Amino acid sequence: MNRERKIQKKEITLKGIPTSPGIAIGKTLLFGRKMLIPDQKNIEIDQVEAELERIGTALERTQRNIEKTRDKATKELGEIVGRIFESHLLILEDEILLDEARAKIRSKLVSADFAYYSVMKKTYDSLLAQKKDYFRERADDIRDVGMRILMNLSGETDKYEFQTDEPVIVVARIITPSEIVHINRELLLGVVTDLGGETSHTAILTRALEVPAVVGLKKISLLAQSTEISVVNGNSGKVILNPTPHHQEIYRQKQKRYLQFYTQLADLNGLPAETTDGHRVKLMANIELPVEVETAQNHSAEGIGLFRTEYLYLVNNQFPSEEEQFIEYKRLAEKMAPNPVTIRTFDLGGDKAPAGLEIGREANPFMGLRAIRISLARPELFKTQIRAILRASAFGNIRLMFPLVTGMDELRKIKRVFREVKNGLIDEGVAFKPDIQIGIMIEVPSAVIMAPELAKEVDFFSIGTNDLIQFTLAADRGNEMVAHLFQDLHPAILRMVKMTVNAGHNQGIEVGMCGEMAGDPLATVILLGLGLDQMSVSPLALPEVRKIVRSISFTEAEKFAEFMLTKKTYKESIREAEKMMKEKFADLPIWFTTQNNESLTKDI
Ligand code: PEP
Ligand code: MG
Repeated sequence: MNRERKIQKKEITLKGIPTSPGIAIGKTLLFGRKMLIPDQKNIEIDQVEAELERIGTALERTQRNIEKTRDKATKELGEIVGRIFESHLLILEDEILLDEARAKIRSKLVSADFAYYSVMKKTYDSLLAQKKDYFRERADDIRDVGMRILMNLSGETDKYEFQTDEPVIVVARIITPSEIVHINRELLLGVVTDLGGETSHTAILTRALEVPAVVGLKKISLLAQSTEISVVNGNSGKVILNPTPHHQEIYRQKQKRYLQFYTQLADLNGLPAETTDGHRVKLMANIELPVEVETAQNHSAEGIGLFRTEYLYLVNNQFPSEEEQFIEYKRLAEKMAPNPVTIRTFDLGGDKAPAGLEIGREANPFMGLRAIRISLARPELFKTQIRAILRASAFGNIRLMFPLVTGMDELRKIKRVFREVKNGLIDEGVAFKPDIQIGIMIEVPSAVIMAPELAKEVDFFSIGTNDLIQFTLAADRGNEMVAHLFQDLHPAILRMVKMTVNAGHNQGIEVGMCGEMAGDPLATVILLGLGLDQMSVSPLALPEVRKIVRSISFTEAEKFAEFMLTKKTYKESIREAEKMMKEKFADLPIWFTTQNNESLTKDI
């Protein structure tokens, strides 16, 4: 019998949520800094004061440790990432938690370790039990800070030692932001976790580090073993433990092609997204954190087409002040100048649940108090944000954009607030860009229908297909069960894009797209032919889209788009798009990076 075969462990394939793109193959390092669980130790009444003092000392030490991590993160990854650890300092100082622990020491006569552990564990469990991802993801932060305090209480040093001197794929139940920041980037091939979602701090950090990551794999930490080989596909969300030699080889090839493809595309860096017959579209980047601006610039984005400002809130779980926002927007504007930076006002609610806003339970949060609706319901927050954006506009080419506008009534209300803020600044003599462009996202069907009217009142449209598709096709964008119905090339979507482009162009305004569809290579030729003026995509998708645009003539693209508008079913539509791509781009391994289409990713 073949010995090799006997040794080969069972291959296990799992599917999770891809949060940072790329392909990694390598040795697994099972990382489980177990939560220190102190025994219940009873104390005498005369020991109470000493135990309370131990808490105080541990807090001081922990504070110094967190500050050190914050400084390291700020230096290496930028201020916003550093601020994750500011939020850890706030957890550390949480008086409710500390008072409860102190009360436990006094009333139950237990050691500081045990008292703190029980209080922290209760908060941790209650966050994990929440329905909303956002709260579950904050549990990572509580655990992070809690572990540090327990370590300091137990006399162990609060250190992050990874037992490796070779590159590894880190597998963990959860991995906290502090842990990631302390891994040497050179030794980190990929990250996979049982828990976590797209907006977790861990996900944000892996994107900032450009390390492939997949989260929400449920039980991978129980199935994986250190030193075994695993494969992480941060594009599709697939993770393979113990891949067979054959699959390892396939993935090595895929990784090679993926890297080659990007190296090849890097040659086009700096060149405009211009068709072979000289038609240009603006190729911009979507960013969530200001640190991503560097990746956008490395891939020569011609501007920021969407800055999702809500992340300024989500990173620290509190509304940034006018001054804090002003500093971020100004820095961004200066970095990108003279290119535009499109700042979208907070799109909180939906899957990005704002704590502290007391929205209450909603049966359908995506259609609830969300985005511009929150801004209009909380004018003081809205005005603060507009003021900060307007002030920053004096330092670069800022454009202001509003999410989820459904029609003229809302737009008029928005413009009223905007005028009020503007007049206030004029009265105070504060500088801003007087001709700042104002635009809206077209992401609900009513906005498409009203586009001819809306176009008369704004300077640009940006189509948000993530929401537009979910509302048009009634397919929840985050629901796996209906993911197959979330179809960007559905004939209804293509026609809506065309209607929006026509409405905008009839009024002479720019029409762009910042939904994920703009970065789907299967859609690029069609979108180009439908007449979009601008496409804004995630920074890593820029080279691919640029390559496609530069490989075709506008005449051809227009003809193909017209042909696609005659398609009646999604099936036909996707078939024709795939056929055209295979014919025209046979030499490009574009297929290997496509996320949206199952038929293309099946083999990844
Ligand atoms: C969209 O809906 O397409 C969009 C870009 O906005 P978000 O994904 O932030 O909702
Ligand atoms: Mg949206």
